[in-house]
Formats: sequence, C-alpha cells, structure tokens
Amino acid sequence: MNKIYFDHNATTPVLDEVFEAMVPFLKEQWGNPSSIHWAGRGTRKAVEDARESVARLLNCTPLEIIFTSSGTEGDNHAIKGLAYAKKDKGNHIITTKVEHPAVLNTCKHLQKDGFDVTYLDVDTDGLIDLNALKSAITPRTILITVMFANNETGVLSPIKEIGDIAKEKGVTFHTDAVQAAGKIPIDLQKLNIDLLTISGHKLYGPKGVGALFARRGVRLVPLIHGGHHERNRRGGTENVAGIVGFGKACDIALKDMDREITHLKALRERLEKGIAEKIPHIKVNGHLEKRLPNTANISFEFVEGESLLLNLDMKGIAASSGSACTSGSLEPSHVLLAMSLSHELSHGSVRFSLGKSNTAGEIDYLIEIMPPIVERMRSMSPLYAAAK
Ligand SMILES: *Cc1c(COP(=O)(O)O)cnc(C)c1O
Repeated sequence: MNKIYFDHNATTPVLDEVFEAMVPFLKEQWGNPSSIHWAGRGTRKAVEDARESVARLLNCTPLEIIFTSSGTEGDNHAIKGLAYAKKDKGNHIITTKVEHPAVLNTCKHLQKDGFDVTYLDVDTDGLIDLNALKSAITPRTILITVMFANNETGVLSPIKEIGDIAKEKGVTFHTDAVQAAGKIPIDLQKLNIDLLTISGHKLYGPKGVGALFARRGVRLVPLIHGGHHERNRRGGTENVAGIVGFGKACDIALKDMDREITHLKALRERLEKGIAEKIPHIKVNGHLEKRLPNTANISFEFVEGESLLLNLDMKGIAASSGSACTSGSLEPSHVLLAMSLSHELSHGSVRFSLGKSNTAGEIDYLIEIMPPIVERMRSMSPLYAAAK
C-alpha cells in the first residue's frame, strides 16, 4: 500500500541530517553541559551552537533563547511566567478563540487563579478584528497572546499590527509561532514580539524539545525551578541530543525556506483545485492569501470528517480533522466553529498539511481516490439526497 503523509502540522519526520547530528550525543558525547571538565565542554559547545541556530532562524540573539521540552511548555512558560511576574500591575490577558489548547487551557487555568481573560472572536476568514483588540485593552491588561499561524487552517494573524498596538499600549505580546517557524520568515528585529514559542518536531526536528524567545528585559517567573540552567530561567539538565537536532533542523529550514514555500504552494494549489473540480459542495476554510503555504482545510458537505479520514487511512493516506490534540474527542473544531461554520460543516472538515517530501503524484493519487469515497458516503446521507 502507498503510504502518503499529509499531516505535517501534527508532526514531521526527523530529517536524516538531523538524526545524524544527534547520534553522537546519544552515545559518546554524554557529558553534562554544566560540567567544566573535558566531558562537559563539548556538549556545552553543542548546546550553544544550537542556540545560535535557533536565534538565526528568528533573527534574535542567542541570549534571548530558552530551550524547553516542547511547544506546550513554551506557551505555558510565556503565559504563566509573564502573568505571575506582572500580577501586581494587572490581571487581564487577551487571547483569541482559535488558539491551540496549549494556550487556551493555560489561560483557562489562570482564570481559576484570579486572572481575567478576554477571548477575541475571529471573522469567517479566521482573522481577529484589530479594533476589537484595541478596545479590549484596559489599564489592567498585562499580556496579549495571539498565535502566528493557526494549526488547523494555516491562517496568519496580523502579527506586525498586533505587536505595534501592544507596544504603544505598553502590553507584553506573546505569540505561539509553532506552526509558522521554519515555514515562513520570522524576523524578530522587525516585529514587536516580546515572547515567541516554537517546537522542534513541527520543523523536522525531534520531539520533546522546543524554544521560547524572551526579548531582553522581559521578566518571567520560571515554570521549572532548579539549577542555574538556561541562565536561571529553566531548571533541568539540557536535552543535549534533542537540542542539537533542533538546531540542525533550524539551519536546514532557514536554508531551504524559499524553495519549500514555492514547492508547498504549488502542491496545495494542485490539491485545492483538483478537489474543487472533482467534488461538488466543498469549501476551503480560512483566508485564501493570509495562510501558511502548506495547509489546506476543506469542508465536505454531507460527509462526516472522521469517517472520511478512516476511508483515506485505508488507502494509505494520513490526514486529520482539527488538531492532533483534539481529534479523538468527537467535538467539532473550536477553530472552525469560531469562524462561524455550522456544526455539520465543522464535522465534515479535513486538514491536509503538506511537507517537504510530498509530490505532485501523491496529490494526484488523493484526487483520484477521493471523489468515489465522498460520493459513497454522501449517498448514505438523506440530507444529500434532498439537496441534490
Ligand atoms: C503542535 C503545536 C503546539 C504544541 O507543541 P508541542 O511541541 O507538541 O508541545 C503548540 N501550538 C501549536 C500552534 C501547535 O501546532
């Protein structure tokens, strides 16, 4: 059976070069980077070289990078760390209804702890209204957290504008850039972002490693207390092999970015055009231009998304509905509902997220096998019979 992977927003395969860079640090280079003797010096250098690679991808300084265990930890550290550091100044946080659970559930936790959270609406394209953001800011607002790119739709937030508003109002701005990093340029010298989260396994690095950018001067209460690691910002002996692999993945992402954007955009266009031509009653979700190059979120009317995914899986095609973190719960996507899609359309949505190794042939195979599957599923729907 063909094995075709269209779920790169859930995770990506580890690149060969990344794997090879990691191997020495799983075996002969086992020293503790905090040790000053010979065993630790090599691993310290490897960690600091990786920090430079991450900083280069984001155009910030290495001192502003804190290694974490995941994107989830980075989001928690940024949001809780800032909230606790600034709680004497205010208790109000602004976010959106379409954030990843790592942000939404962290904000919900803080509500139990006395913080007020505003969840901004999005329009049918998945974009927030900047005037609504401005009017939500009060003298007690300490943090704005809005994602760079949405994991379900790929929609890109107006990060430059949000940063400018936050700066003007003196509010700290965090963005979850886990989906954007490595896929599109991020220039921290040009954007007023104070805190930014990324993750290794979404950009062809290993799982279990991420980074939080904290702009010089932004104070955070640590999430993990311990030794003097990460300049007292995160305790725990470093995941050296993971960090090295992550650094390598950042180098490759930066080097290949322009070529990948062209490749992915062409494949996505082929996919969306092919499906639109062959299958009636579909809708592409999210702003058509302000989107990551690799993500296509498509609603199929009169179809149950989960069964469509099972049928695709039987043909060797891996795709997903919503995020990996919420699938399996049969709730419709909170992102699509926030974009005012009906429950039915939200349930009938599939996310195809493309990556480096995907080919036009794979897209063509999808477009060939999908129409009969969708037609068969629809033929069992009484609503479809009525609409036809
Ligand atoms: C995957 C993802 C996360 C979580 O990152 P992990 O490293 O898997 O914890 C956070 N935010 C977004 C937008 C994601 O896509």
